[in-house]
Amino acid sequence: MRFLSSLSTVLFFSLLSTALMAAPFSLAPLPYATDALQPTIDKATMELHYGKHHQAYVTNLNAALDAQPDLKNKSLDELVAIAGTLPAAIRNNAGGHWNHSFFWQSMAPANKVGAMSNELKTALEKQFGSIDQFKTQFRAAGIGRFGSGWVWLSVDAKGQLVISSTPNQDNPLMDIAEVKAKPILGNDLWEHAYYLQYNNRRADYLDAWWQLVDWAVISQRYTAAIKK
Ligand code: MN
Repeated sequence: MRFLSSLSTVLFFSLLSTALMAAPFSLAPLPYATDALQPTIDKATMELHYGKHHQAYVTNLNAALDAQPDLKNKSLDELVAIAGTLPAAIRNNAGGHWNHSFFWQSMAPANKVGAMSNELKTALEKQFGSIDQFKTQFRAAGIGRFGSGWVWLSVDAKGQLVISSTPNQDNPLMDIAEVKAKPILGNDLWEHAYYLQYNNRRADYLDAWWQLVDWAVISQRYTAAIKK
């Protein structure tokens, strides 16, 4: 099963990298079924979140780029890196596409999530005291974001782990981010991510969500981020 899971991850990443290359952008397939994250995230939330919200970021990004042909050859990463110079429609929808693509890959069905590497575990304990203390701080940053946004665990320019939050569809790779860093994990704080199931209880959603985090993927991102 682990082999099949790894194989599907590789296939997904190759599809994803194609989808992210340049305009017109497209929505990559989810790496699991829309009901696979139940009961933590229900099928109706996934269908709306992936099929409607994420699709809208892709559709609106392509439409906004049609009006800006000079930006059409840029990759999604390149657009995100210059977000502060872009029209709002491109910044918001490029961020929305980047963030959601990253988000789907960060999760797996609860019975299929991979384990955290010793390398990441040691780094989290060194930076935050313990895994529990890391989760407490991540939760606090998620609760503390007023309105819509994201909460992130990233690697900063010094190679240190850092928790931050960004408004709207911004992320730590953007030139305008308060905390500039390379994200390895992010959770979506928009009400569309949890409202059908958790209503106004964002903290309950944040707590339940840990069951879906695929630490094998996050650990691979960590290893890649500290090498650069
Ligand atoms: Mn979302």
